[in-house]
Amino acid sequence: MNNYFDLFIIGGGINGAGIARDASGRGLKVYLADKGKVGSATSSWSSKLIHGGLRYLENYEFKLVRESLKEREVITNIAPTITKPLPFIIPYTKKLRSKLLIRLGLFLYDHLGGNTKIPKSSKINLNKKYSKILNQKFSVGFQYYDVQVDDKKLVEMNIDDAKKLGATIVEDRKVINANRIDDGWEITLDNNEIIKSKILINAAGPWINEVVNNVIKTNTNKSIRLVRGSHIITKKLYDEEIAFTLQNEDNRIVFVIPYKKKYSLIGTTEVEVKTADNPSISDEEKIYLINTINNHFVKQISNEDIVETYSGIRPLIEDYNEASKVTRDYVFDLNIQNKNSPLLNIYGGKLTTYRKLSEKVMEVLNPHLPTHNTKNWTHSKNL
Ligand SMILES: Cc1cc2nc3c(=O)[nH]c(=O)nc-3n(C[C@H](O)[C@H](O)[C@H](O)COP(=O)(O)OP(=O)(O)OC[C@H]3O[C@@H](n4cnc5c(N)ncnc54)[C@H](O)[C@@H]3O)c2cc1C
Repeated sequence: MNNYFDLFIIGGGINGAGIARDASGRGLKVYLADKGKVGSATSSWSSKLIHGGLRYLENYEFKLVRESLKEREVITNIAPTITKPLPFIIPYTKKLRSKLLIRLGLFLYDHLGGNTKIPKSSKINLNKKYSKILNQKFSVGFQYYDVQVDDKKLVEMNIDDAKKLGATIVEDRKVINANRIDDGWEITLDNNEIIKSKILINAAGPWINEVVNNVIKTNTNKSIRLVRGSHIITKKLYDEEIAFTLQNEDNRIVFVIPYKKKYSLIGTTEVEVKTADNPSISDEEKIYLINTINNHFVKQISNEDIVETYSGIRPLIEDYNEASKVTRDYVFDLNIQNKNSPLLNIYGGKLTTYRKLSEKVMEVLNPHLPTHNTKNWTHSKNL
């Protein structure tokens, strides 16, 4: 049948795009639909970092940090035109994390991912180097490296490759219904077109459970917590090509990152919300981010310095921890009620781990797929 696909993917964020590329490259017939433009939801509202997630070490997420650091290396290699290593400075604050704890964290961060081209961390004298940027009270700091990425481009490059490899990608097409049939799925788009596919993948990011409940009309035992993260953008606060990891008294951290040559990107916050639709920053979040800058920097900012803001929703797997402690790892929910029509729901994840996630999706679905190339390939092929 001409319009019978091996995989139908709901959602063209980084996860859907990565899976579409990986699967198409293995010779599978892939259809991906997004209700908007690809890469224009959560995947372009991030802090734009390919990072190990230094902070997650505090929550003992060693496996996630290790995988993320390894992926940092891979993504930097396969997407050199849109990634850039960047030094991050952590000003030490007596009342917060001890020097020993930070050094231990950075030691693990330097080594958990194995061999890397990215420079190792070091202790630095802030008064000597950054006295014009940071408040005088910060005399000691630590420097480590992470990688800045153009998040939207990362999605678009995966999508472009998937198309070249034969995938069908449609934008501005909401999936409104999905029914199990004898040999797979019958999926209805909002222009009433019906597509048939052997397997259905739900990569709808923060809309995942909305799709489970209202489109697929099935059950899942996974609940999620929607947590809004907001950023403010100001004219650049300093000229140096460095970023800061600022510690707040509530134990959260805020990044200050050079952005598009002329700006500083400052974020993020964590606010639990009820819906994934139309996220936008609140006045409290703006104040929180402004205060963080003013508590650390010589230059003081106010509302008037904000030139733009954006917010995104993290779909975090519910593990009944406080928002900053909820795992950022991904979880698969493979629903095989009927052997011939598997459904894979993808919960959580990060930009950084999308490629590995896509490989694991292929592994999990392997027994349900027609003959295809099972050899992993995306780690060594440039986007
Ligand atoms: C504030 C913030 C900062 C972050 N910073 C980082 C960072 O620096 N580094 C990092 O690695 N990760 C970061 N993350 C995490 C990362 O951004 C996300 O994990 C990732 O973008 C999720 O991608 P996704 O494909 O699951 O979701 P999305 O990008 O949201 O894609 C889901 C897509 O599904 C589509 N969709 C939904 N319902 C339907 C439907 N019925 N029919 C068709 N299409 C549908 C939507 O239109 C959307 O395009 C951050 C997240 C947030 C919120």
